[in-house]
Amino acid sequence: MAGQFEGKVVLVTGGGRGIGRAAALLFAAEGGRVVVSDIDEAAANDTVDLIRRRQAEGLAIACDVSDADSCARLVSGSLEHYGRLDVAFNNAGVADRPSLAAEVSEAEWGRVLRINLTGVFLSMKHEIPALLQSGGGAIVNTASVAGLVGAPLAAAYCAAKHGVIGLTRAAALDYIGQGIRINALCPGATDTDMLRNVTADPAVKQHILGTVPIKRVASAEEIARTAVFLASDASSYLVGQALAVDGGVTVQ
Ligand code: NAD
Repeated sequence: MAGQFEGKVVLVTGGGRGIGRAAALLFAAEGGRVVVSDIDEAAANDTVDLIRRRQAEGLAIACDVSDADSCARLVSGSLEHYGRLDVAFNNAGVADRPSLAAEVSEAEWGRVLRINLTGVFLSMKHEIPALLQSGGGAIVNTASVAGLVGAPLAAAYCAAKHGVIGLTRAAALDYIGQGIRINALCPGATDTDMLRNVTADPAVKQHILGTVPIKRVASAEEIARTAVFLASDASSYLVGQALAVDGGVTVQ
């Protein structure tokens, strides 16, 4: 049976590890030709090696999503190699340094907003013309439960992720008439390097687990499966949604 992304070209940012890597592997397993992008070129190459070992097709292109020229080169490189673009999973992101809102430095505020919010804007800015050229497609932007509700000591991260949801909703309305569906994915605590760094302190880990009704964190693959769903025709009537995959955190 043909995979759901057979013949399609799928771009994943932040594909070198964590949720992005898990998604890149799932897209490839479903027949997609996957452009794996990451600021960490070696990590992107490792993901592509894993894809090729499974007899699927992938290409690594280094990109810093906070840099407009880098995003332009990512999309033009994808088009040069594969000739089209059908799906983009804008997933690259960073955690912020825990800090009370009034104590966040301007430099830290700028760094987190530039990567987590402007990075999604710049990615879409270059992906959308390529998707239109290919006759439409789907975009999935990684926000967070911190885009839906507040979190202590994470003002910059929350502001950026709330912004990703607003940007997703506005862009979804702008482009649905031209056949591009845009949705946001809102993971809860997920077992990746990002979370492992934040929860190095056992007290923080205990606190996070205490807030999750399902009483465990998600695996990267559990989150990636929803990214694949949002990018696929199985979600054909979902437009501009912010879908929480959070073990029940936001329904309490
Ligand atoms: P991760 O740290 O495992 O992976 C993130 C990847 O993004 C890394 O490979 C990193 O090199 C890359 N990256 C960082 N800055 C970049 C930049 N400027 N340009 C391009 N790539 C860059 O983290 P993850 O947990 O897989 O996170 C993926 C996304 O999920 C992020 O947007 C994150 O905010 C979001 N998220 C994660 C969690 C969680 O608990 N892990 C929860 C909610 C949302």
